[in-house]
Amino acid sequence: MQKEKAQDIILDLKTRNCISRDSRVFSDGDYVYIPLAGDYQLAIAGAEVVEIEPRLPPHQSIPQAIKGSYDRIGDIAIIKVKDQKLAAELGNAIIEAGSGVKSVWMDSGIHGEYRTRQLKWLAGDKKTLAIHTENQTRFLLDISKVYFSPRLATERMRLARKVRDGEYIIDMFAGIGPFAIIIAKLRNVEITCIDSNPDAIKFMEESIRLNKLKGQIMPVLSKAETIMPKLPKADRIIMNLPHQSMNFIDTAKATLKDDGTIHLYIIGSVSETEENMEKIRNAGLTVIDKRIVHGYSPAESLVSLSLRKTL
Ligand code: SAM
Repeated sequence: MQKEKAQDIILDLKTRNCISRDSRVFSDGDYVYIPLAGDYQLAIAGAEVVEIEPRLPPHQSIPQAIKGSYDRIGDIAIIKVKDQKLAAELGNAIIEAGSGVKSVWMDSGIHGEYRTRQLKWLAGDKKTLAIHTENQTRFLLDISKVYFSPRLATERMRLARKVRDGEYIIDMFAGIGPFAIIIAKLRNVEITCIDSNPDAIKFMEESIRLNKLKGQIMPVLSKAETIMPKLPKADRIIMNLPHQSMNFIDTAKATLKDDGTIHLYIIGSVSETEENMEKIRNAGLTVIDKRIVHGYSPAESLVSLSLRKTL
């Protein structure tokens, strides 16, 4: 595409998660080339889709070029590049750049009930244990044993600021408890944190110990659906199991106070999100807020919905 239009188009494509991480944006003078993720038929005035060899950044500038395209958890970097050779090259470059990263892993997807990453070691130490700092809060975790996404940092703080002292909260799929720990650092609340992964509960307990909290957190090792009916009714329920959350809507509603709020996370395309919102309304809940947390795939996003009982 022509240079003058590039900045706006890059921004738009980034927002829609359409830029591939396997190559870099480059210019040959008059034109700018943007690597696309997936099979796109783009209808952008002044742009056309061309097939060319990917351009790798010069060796020493690779970390700068992929900055933002890998996740960092403590001193561990996690990259999602599919090409093994390129991934290994990037891994070594990240270590050599001396940015404090000690270990680099390739992530080929989240899987199973515990939503853990499928990891392949790329460079540096073969370590999976890290202390991660987010919003001045520390978390201890093993990236191979528990789910943790640093991309939710802003969302967690946004939610925490909505909470008031004195609330009773349930986090149904708490993982190592990042939502709860950030809330309890900010507010004097009681939070029951449920997870079915014993390692998640172990690292949650360790992470609670690492921080000075105003509130109190009760970790519970259980399936949410088993324990929820035995819990007191909550002012707020957090449901972050995006591919399955919808299956637990009735369970959550039954344990929610009449004036309580559910924070539901779902992944889907625009039309799937609309369908889910229809199901939510049919379940007797009203959507009071909807926002996109981040892109998930070219067509899908992680969406945050705030729900209240329809009275
Ligand atoms: N909320 C955490 C966070 O933001 O980091 C973790 C979210 S992770 C996507 C979902 C978590 O739900 C995993 O830790 C998994 O072990 C747990 N999980 C899956 N099915 C569950 C169930 N039926 N009951 C309780 N926990 C469950």
